[in-house]
Amino acid sequence: IAPRARKPDWIRVKAPTGKVVAETRELMRAKSLTTVCEEAACPNIGECWSKKHATVMILGDTCTRACAFCNVKTGMPRAVDPMEPAHVAEAAAAMGLQHIVITSVDRDDLPDGGASQFVKVIHAIRAANPTTTIEILTPDFRNKAQAAVESIVEARPDVYNHNLETVPRLYPTIRPGARYYASLRLLESVKRHDPSIFTKSGVMLGLGEERMEVHQVMDDMRSADIDFLTMGQYLQPTPRHAKVADFVTPKAFDAFAAIARAKGFLLVASSPLTRSSYHAGDDFAKMRAA
Ligand code: SF4
Ligand code: SF4
Repeated sequence: IAPRARKPDWIRVKAPTGKVVAETRELMRAKSLTTVCEEAACPNIGECWSKKHATVMILGDTCTRACAFCNVKTGMPRAVDPMEPAHVAEAAAAMGLQHIVITSVDRDDLPDGGASQFVKVIHAIRAANPTTTIEILTPDFRNKAQAAVESIVEARPDVYNHNLETVPRLYPTIRPGARYYASLRLLESVKRHDPSIFTKSGVMLGLGEERMEVHQVMDDMRSADIDFLTMGQYLQPTPRHAKVADFVTPKAFDAFAAIARAKGFLLVASSPLTRSSYHAGDDFAKMRAA
């Protein structure tokens, strides 16, 4: 068990308190929904929830994998909830969301990896909230990826996100159940099937990656036609998780952002507290208005 490193001053987080935060929590419980904000112990929960930004995690709260950086619990998941698509749509309506981010645990136990639940959730949100833009953050669907991508792309989410998480060299220790090139191919195939869907991916920094390895990941992403990039500092959720190798300075995040923009990403979010869904709706709306 690795001890947790002391966080530098630039990692300051707002405590999750206040009326709107409490309302968001109540709504999620009333609809029996899980959020990645809570399950992943996201440091931005105070800020995001006070603005009614939450990322719903469908297909339960238990993952069939155990990535070394992730706080989501691992085990045998529950049966899929048939009411979940309606509940997500109702929560989106109740929160008045212009943009919603939907993610899930990995469900390697399901014949379709959970793809059909993503499709149902997208349709339910569209029916109840026609103007809400929909961003999905999916697992890699392992050997079911092609069929999963085809069915999800047909439901036409606005943004399809799948995180590469880290550089390929660190996959065996950090993301052992996944394959770097399979994740890249998944995103590439989304774009191939429907070029009008924006694709997005992200990496955590501070896991021991080298600067040039991050540049290579950016090049790989651009080769796969990925439009948006997020980069944030990895924070060790508990002493049982992978240790923080280093805290990347805000200046270094800015430098990575400048390089990413030069490489042609349409949207780049890069800061210590950036997460996949951090300011996702605001950034997407700004980009579309530009
Ligand atoms: Fe939730 Fe994303 Fe905000 Fe974190 S950054 S609190 S996961 S919406
Ligand atoms: Fe967490 Fe996703 Fe890994 Fe599951 S697959 S442990 S939810 S990062």
